[in-house]
Amino acid sequence: MPLRILKHLRGGTGQAGQTRMYDTGMRAGVRRLGKAAIKAHRAMRAAKLFLTLGGLLCLGMTRLCEGQRGDGPMGPEAAGGENFTLDVGGAHLQLEVTGATPDLPVSALVEHFREAAQAVSSYYGRFPVPTARIRIMIAPDRAGILQGTTWGDMGGFPAVTRFRIGQHTTALQLKEDWMATHELVHMALPSLGDDQHWLEEGLSTYVEPIARAQLGQLTLEETWDGMLDGMPKGEPGNGDQGLDRTHTWGRTYWGGALFCMVAEVEIRKRTGNVHGLQDALRGIVAAGGAINHEWPIEKTLAAGDAATGTTVLEDLYKSWSTAPVTVDLPSLWKQLGVSHSGSKVVFDDAAPLAGMRKSITTPRNQAAHRNEK
Ligand SMILES: [Zn+2]
Repeated sequence: MPLRILKHLRGGTGQAGQTRMYDTGMRAGVRRLGKAAIKAHRAMRAAKLFLTLGGLLCLGMTRLCEGQRGDGPMGPEAAGGENFTLDVGGAHLQLEVTGATPDLPVSALVEHFREAAQAVSSYYGRFPVPTARIRIMIAPDRAGILQGTTWGDMGGFPAVTRFRIGQHTTALQLKEDWMATHELVHMALPSLGDDQHWLEEGLSTYVEPIARAQLGQLTLEETWDGMLDGMPKGEPGNGDQGLDRTHTWGRTYWGGALFCMVAEVEIRKRTGNVHGLQDALRGIVAAGGAINHEWPIEKTLAAGDAATGTTVLEDLYKSWSTAPVTVDLPSLWKQLGVSHSGSKVVFDDAAPLAGMRKSITTPRNQAAHRNEK
C-alpha cells in the first residue's frame, strides 16, 4: 500500500463555533518582539538527522491528518490558550498557543513562527495567503518538535497549520527546527492531485533551507550539507515508474526536491541566471495558486513557467512524472562547486556554475522583481 503523504484537507472538518471561540480569546500584540539574537547554527550531523526525520515525521502526521478526531486543527480550545497576532509579509497571522505550559516563554514560540513567516515572505515576495491560523499545541511531558500539519481552506481561513511541540522543548531544539518554515511553504502552492504530493512535499523540502539561508537563518554550509545528504535519497530505485506513480518516502520528499533543484538549475541555464525557481514559484502565487485552491499540476507548472519565460517545469514534468529519471548528482555538485570534505562542506568558487549556486541563496530584490512582472 503506498504511503500517504501530507493531506491538504479542504474545508468541512472544522467544527462550528470554533472560530468564534477563537475570536473571543485573549489576543496580545507581539509586533514589538525583538528578533532572536541567536541565529541557527545547528551542527552538521544534526542537520542531516533533522532533514531525514523531517519526512518521517511528516508521514507520521499524515495518518493523523486523515484520521483526525476532536483534536483537529480548529479545536477544541484548551483552557488557558493564548492568542497572538503577527503581521508579516502583508499577511495577518493568528497564532494560538494551547495545551500544557511550556518551559520556554510563549514569546519564543511566537518569535519562532515570525522568523519562519519572514523567511517564506521574503522568498515569495509576500506571504502567500492574506490570513492564516497557526495553532501551536504543547504536549505535556514531551520534548522537541513533534508534528506539523497544514491544511488549505479550513475553518474560514485560507490556510491553517497545526504545530505540536513538547512541553520541555529547549531553546536549542526550537532553534534547530525546520518544520515551521516547511509547513508555511506548503501554503504557497495550490492543492494538487493525489499523485502529486511529491511536488507539495518536494517543494517544501527544497525551499525551506533556501528561504532561511537567504535571510541568514541558516548558514550556507548547513544549507548545502542538507542538499548533499538528502538529494541522493530522491533518485529512482528499482521498479520506479516516475514521480506520479512511485509514492515512496524517498521519491516523495527528496524526489520532489530533486525535481525542484534540477528545475532551478535548468531555469537559470536557460535565462542566463536571470531567473530561477524562486521566480517561477512567485509566479504561481501571483496567479492565485495558494493552498486554498485546487489546481491541476499542469496549470500550476504553466503559471510557474510563464513567470520565467521558459517551459522548464512543464518539460521536466513530462519526462519525470511517468518514468524514472536519474540525475548525475556528482557531476551537478561539481558544476555548482559544492562537496563534502569529511564532515565539512567545501565550496569551489571557480566551478562553472558557482555563480548560480550563490544566486540561489541570495535574497531576491522584491521591488525589482515586482517591476519584472
Ligand atoms: Zn510537508
